Amino acid sequence: MKSNLASKGADRYVVGKAERFDQRNNAFFRAVWEPSLVELGRQFYGIIYPKDRPGYRLEDMAFDQAGWYAEQAFAMGNLGGNRGLYSWESPKIWYSDYRPPTDLKLTVDDPSKMTKVIKKVAKAYGASLVGVCELDRRWVYSHRQNVLEKKHEPIEIPEEFKYAIALAFEMDYELIKLSPTHTGAAGPTSAYGRMALTTGSLAQFIRYLGYKAIPMGNDTALSIPIAIDAGLGELSRIGILITEEYGPRVRLSKIFTDLPLEPDSPIEFGVWDFCMKCRKCAHVCPGQAIMYGEPTDKINNICNREGLLRWPIDAEKCFGWWARSEGVCSNCIRVCPFNKPSGWLHESVRWGVKNTRWLDSLFVKVDNLLGYGKGAKVEHFWSS
Ligand code: SF4
Ligand code: SF4
Repeated sequence: MKSNLASKGADRYVVGKAERFDQRNNAFFRAVWEPSLVELGRQFYGIIYPKDRPGYRLEDMAFDQAGWYAEQAFAMGNLGGNRGLYSWESPKIWYSDYRPPTDLKLTVDDPSKMTKVIKKVAKAYGASLVGVCELDRRWVYSHRQNVLEKKHEPIEIPEEFKYAIALAFEMDYELIKLSPTHTGAAGPTSAYGRMALTTGSLAQFIRYLGYKAIPMGNDTALSIPIAIDAGLGELSRIGILITEEYGPRVRLSKIFTDLPLEPDSPIEFGVWDFCMKCRKCAHVCPGQAIMYGEPTDKINNICNREGLLRWPIDAEKCFGWWARSEGVCSNCIRVCPFNKPSGWLHESVRWGVKNTRWLDSLFVKVDNLLGYGKGAKVEHFWSS
């Protein structure tokens, strides 16, 4: 990819007419309404029982499932959005000691200063990374799948919502090393829990300033292009975001707002070139959902959007594997060379990937030689 294209945000991947995506075409929803995937859906959403092996015992399953608690009980973003912590307006609060009158509105003379305030508050509430962009409405879903009310509803975001705040939540490095097990799955599920609490609280902070805020998890709009526009990272062969700080080891949420903010610049630090040389994620994908070849604008099925040049993940295969294996796989994230804990050695390698691209193949070999990406033992996790 030419570096002058890289500064364009997610538009750098657009090569055709990128129509708004209908959320019902996401594999998790297709498994409910599309006859060819319904059997997999039954397996995926059905009851599973503990097994007598590490990572699949009752305590492992409880650890995995309880990580979801805040999302499932108070946000429900995975059911369509605009509920609980992800409500588009302040939900009824039964008890509050908030004293200023609610009709006040902060005057924002300096959007740059306001952006710093938003980032400070977001991090204080629990976000790992925060970025801001102008809202590109191509990334908003055309329709939501309202699971609870069994409705397929169009989504329109009112004009005054000019900005998007993208939030990333680090998933625990040691837990991701335990993929694929229920113990390891607590990395993603607990990130969803933190994400719901932080995103909902930040939206409420914006409302208390007198502005509007629409918070969301996976619902309402695509998280990855918004995060790219907001300067949090780049698209990878896995089809997910890679950040400079945590690699692909993040979960994403966002807030749309009319609060005046200063957009961040998109970034480019060598992911596209590195993924051209590295195929570690494709090697370890048990569902064979990650492609080996060059980026393409061809789609695998309707889970992919048309009009984009990238490595389209085969979400039917990924979901199929999840359905057959209790939904605990993060192998692709685990082995990615960008997934490293902080430290001077890893900062140096990141600098190398960004600045010496002719060494990319060498970095992949060294990563393999040093044994990065290998799975860890659940027994060690519980006993340490
Ligand atoms: S989550 Fe697992 S099955 Fe899905 S793409 Fe990643 S490695 Fe493959
Ligand atoms: S494992 Fe390699 S190819 Fe896959 S996303 Fe990471 S860097 Fe790219």
